[in-house]
Amino acid sequence: MIKDLLPGQVVCNEKNEKGKPCHGKLKRYYPFASYFNETDSGRLDEIKREFGQDPKLVLLRCEDCRMIYRLPQVLKEQLKQA
Ligand SMILES: [Zn+2]
Repeated sequence: MIKDLLPGQVVCNEKNEKGKPCHGKLKRYYPFASYFNETDSGRLDEIKREFGQDPKLVLLRCEDCRMIYRLPQVLKEQLKQA
């Protein structure tokens, strides 16, 4: 599952088993970059279906629950230039 990042969102809002928001830190995530070593192939397939296998693809991933977020277009452009 891949979620949309909400405007102004800086931490993970995925709810845990107790129904509380996770609030984990969101880190840049490059699923197809060779150094990244994503081991969950089901997840990679899902990303590939939506975005194609782009080594420059940038998403965000929660450090705690590993939920993946789509970046809004604006943020995506900023990250590419950085
Ligand atoms: Zn999380």
